[in-house]
Amino acid sequence: MICKFFHRAAWKMSLENAQKRMDQLASEVSKSTESSIMDDYGKTFEYKRKEKGWEAFECPCGSPKQLSPSMKNKEFYCTQCGRKIKVLV
Ligand SMILES: [Zn+2]
Repeated sequence: MICKFFHRAAWKMSLENAQKRMDQLASEVSKSTESSIMDDYGKTFEYKRKEKGWEAFECPCGSPKQLSPSMKNKEFYCTQCGRKIKVLV
């Protein structure tokens, strides 16, 4: 009888701990994703052109970008991370 009760209590405790840990993990995950999005959003990435014609480069988020020859001293936003990309001639 005591044994049964003990098992029940232990089971309930581990369940509560697991729930707590899940909540903790969930809040950690949501915090880290929120902050990384906020970190990139509104940031400016400056890209200095190396050539006069077409040029390809990667946004710091990994999204590939292509610059046309008319893209000079212009700004645009990365569609993937929302970062502002400044093109310097
Ligand atoms: Zn990007």
